[in-house]
Order: sequence, then structure tokens, then C-alpha cells
Amino acid sequence: MTLHIPFDNSYSRLPDRFFARQAPVPVARPELLLLNRPLARDLGIDPDALQSPEGVAVLAGNAVAEGSEPLAQAYSGHQFGGFSPVLGDGRAVLLGEVIDTHGNRRDLQLKGSGQTAFSRPGSDGRSPLGPVIREFIVSEAMYALGIPTTRSLAAVATGERVRREDLLPGGVLTRVASSHIRIGTFQYFAARRDTEGLQILTDHVIARHYPEASGALDLLKNVMARQARLVTRWMGVGFIHGVMNTDNSTISGETIDYGPCAFMDTFDPGTVYSSIDRLGRYAFDKQPEILGWNLAQLASALLPLIDPDEDAAVEAAQDAMNGYGDLLHAAWMEVFRAKIGLVTEQPDDVGLISDLLSAMARGQADFTNTFRALANGTARDQFLEPDEFDQWDSRWRARLNDEPEAAPLSERLTAVNPAIIPRNHRVEQAIVAAMEGDLSPATRLFEALSRPYADPTDEVRDLIRPPTAPERVQRTFCGT
Ligand code: AMP
Ligand code: MG
Repeated sequence: MTLHIPFDNSYSRLPDRFFARQAPVPVARPELLLLNRPLARDLGIDPDALQSPEGVAVLAGNAVAEGSEPLAQAYSGHQFGGFSPVLGDGRAVLLGEVIDTHGNRRDLQLKGSGQTAFSRPGSDGRSPLGPVIREFIVSEAMYALGIPTTRSLAAVATGERVRREDLLPGGVLTRVASSHIRIGTFQYFAARRDTEGLQILTDHVIARHYPEASGALDLLKNVMARQARLVTRWMGVGFIHGVMNTDNSTISGETIDYGPCAFMDTFDPGTVYSSIDRLGRYAFDKQPEILGWNLAQLASALLPLIDPDEDAAVEAAQDAMNGYGDLLHAAWMEVFRAKIGLVTEQPDDVGLISDLLSAMARGQADFTNTFRALANGTARDQFLEPDEFDQWDSRWRARLNDEPEAAPLSERLTAVNPAIIPRNHRVEQAIVAAMEGDLSPATRLFEALSRPYADPTDEVRDLIRPPTAPERVQRTFCGT
């Protein structure tokens, strides 16, 4: 069988200053570890062909498939609040785009595929295998939860070692995204005062992601709405991205960059996992504020396109940004109202939801299991001291009396409150096993996470349990 990838590239048609053409750098002994067969079929690629030596060579970067025009994208970004004018794909290569079987344009990108023109000085352009497996598992779990995200097509071991603090086995991830264009891509052209480039990028993005948008200001408002929805949906599943730099905020509204991310076990709004986030900039409950900050960077990059008169542009952008607070609040309420089974809106719903979260924090309740247990009346078991929850429960029951008879309550609740999430300790265990050559925990997790809202069978019950003290993972490493 021969590999055919139906490339239909558009980014590579943009002006030369948008990227550096760059083939992936071959690796010593590629070995396919994980392949996402349903995703391959969605992309119109034969999974068997991808599994063949010819396919694995492409997934490892050892061969360039017909129609592929590999390139590293240029971008800038604020990282932990400091601006880097030149970042770009320092360890990733866009292979090209395909139109999937649903008619959607999707990027195929290799991550960990060697140095590019944008590699940080002294950096190898590679990725350790551990973070590759983490991204594969967690991004696919996010997809199964119904939350917009980049996807993972394949994970390949390189047969080479990468030097970090230790020597670690290397890996390459094939990432699929509706595009890899980020807020930082706009910042790249804005920092150069390249208004023509900004206009070309804006036109490309509007055609690709927001055909309904009427111009730069409207694009800003659209990105704001999608990103607000994304971040509140993360919060609805207890997800902490961990590194919400402006180069990790997509224009499409998909989750990108599963570096030091994690799902919370015990609910604590100030939770931080990332080993490099020492000040807690990207803590769980800081995410809406940070998104607002990132959107302000997009607004400022777009100014020359919003209005040729600078004062008028600033006023219009400011006006759009002033709407962010209400937009975020509405998106948050939509997510959390559904999580407690409410279909209608009442003024005190915000108080009801906040009081549950406060009780959960004080009662050291498991975030996922508490919401899931609302459906079968056992949520009180999740609390160290259930009195506060019991009081809340009576208020909640009273509020539910005002709801129309829509779908039964337990069905409404289980449809939005997952049973299975990629708990950090399970992901860590799967990574450790994979490094020792045993892929079965990783594939088992991948399978179980594909049905997060289903009633768990006995075989997956261990995946629902929060970590015991020795199992708990305190910090997640960026792994770059
Ligand atoms: P990331 O953590 O992958 O989002 O990377 C942030 C920035 O650092 C991007 O510009 C990357 O391309 C660059 N970078 C990260 N890791 C490496 C690496 N191993 N070699 C070269 N550049 C890197
Ligand atoms: Mg990144």
C-alpha cells in the first residue's frame, strides 16, 4: 500500500516573510508508538499506510511526503509577561494542510522535528518522549470531552537521546490543528510595523476561521468570544493550561501546547502545576484574567488595521475590550449552570455556584467526582465535612424545583460532568511505562478517555479514583 496524504496548502502561499522553509531533520531509528487511526481516517489518510515503513518515515520526519511543503512558522509572543520579538517554530515543522472528510482545513505539523531558523540559541529542536506521550493522551482526552483542541495523530520514538537535565529518549508528535496561527503571529508583524503583513495575515485568518467577520475589529471580537468559551470550558473540567503565553493562545480558539498542563484532583482555585510558573501567573483561577491580558495584546497588534486614525483605533479596541468581562462571565455561567443541571437563568445562580465551589475548596472535594456525583446523590461523600454541602444541597434542590421538566436531571448532569479525566498521576504512570517499553497503560488510558461521560465500567474504575498521597504529582514539567 502506498501513502497518500491529500495536501492542499495555503499558508505556504503567503509571502516569504511568514515562515522559513525547512525540512524536518531525520532521526536515527524511528518507531511508531501511538497512532490515532480514527483521526487518520477523518483526515482522509489510510491508517495502514501511515503504519507502514513509508508512513512512519513521514511521521518521524525522515521522509517528506508528496505534496508536503515543510516550513517553520514565524511568530512572536509574550512569555510570562515578557515580550520576545522572534520566536517561531523552533522545534516544529508544518508539513502542510489537508481538507478533512468533513470539509475542514487542518494543519499537519511535526513537533520535535529538529532545529529550524527560529530555534532558540543552543536548543536542539527536539522533544523528549515523555511530553510527546503526555500531549497525545491529554489532547485526545480534551477532544473527547468536546472541548476545542489541537489533536494528536501519532507519537514516534526517535531512537535518539535528548539532553535536558538528564539524557532522555526523544520523540516526535504529529499534531493536527485547524491552524497554528496564534495571537503571537499577529504580534510578530505588529512588532515590525509591517502593516501590510498584518493585513495579509488578517485576510488569511478571516477566510480560514471567521468568514463571517467584517474586518480586524470584528475579528478581535470573534476571537474574544471563542477564547472566552474555551477557557471557561477548561475551568468546567478543572483544567489548568499552565503556560498561557500569547504564543499559546490560538486564533482559532483551540487549546494548544500541552506542556505543563494538568487536570485538578482536589479543588483548590489557586492550583498551579507548572514547574516554571513560580509566581502562579497561570493558576487555575487566573486563567480568565490572563486571557483578557492576551486579548489586549491582540487588540494592540491589530490597531493599525482597526482605524488609520490612532486615537479612533484605540477607542474602538478599548470599547471591544470593555466587553470582555461580561462576555467571560456569561460564558462561565453557561458552563457552570449546566454543571449543576440548570436550564433557566435566575439572578442568584451565580451565588449558588460560587457557594458550591467555596464548599468544595473548604471540604477538599475532588473536582471531577463531586460534580459527577451530583447526578446520583452521593456528592456529600466527597467532602471532609459534609455539613456545608448539605446546606447547599437543600438550596440547590429548591432551585431545581423552578426548572421545567426538560431531560431528566441525572441525564443533564452526566452529559456535562465527566466521570473520567486524564488524572495527572495516571498520565505520569503511562509515561513511565511507555519509557520502559510498555505501551499498554497509555493505550488503555487513551481508550478509556475516549468516552468520558459514559458510566464507567468496572475495568476503568481505577481511573476515576483520585491519587493517593504517594501517587500525587506535585509539579508538571514543561519538558522542552
Ligand atoms: P514551546 O514550549 O514548544 O511552546 O516553545 C516555546 C518557544 O521555544 C518556541 O519558539 C519554540 O519553538 C522554542 N523552543 C522550545 N523548545 C525548543 C527546542 N528544544 N529547540 C528549539 N526551540 C525550542
Ligand atoms: Mg508553545
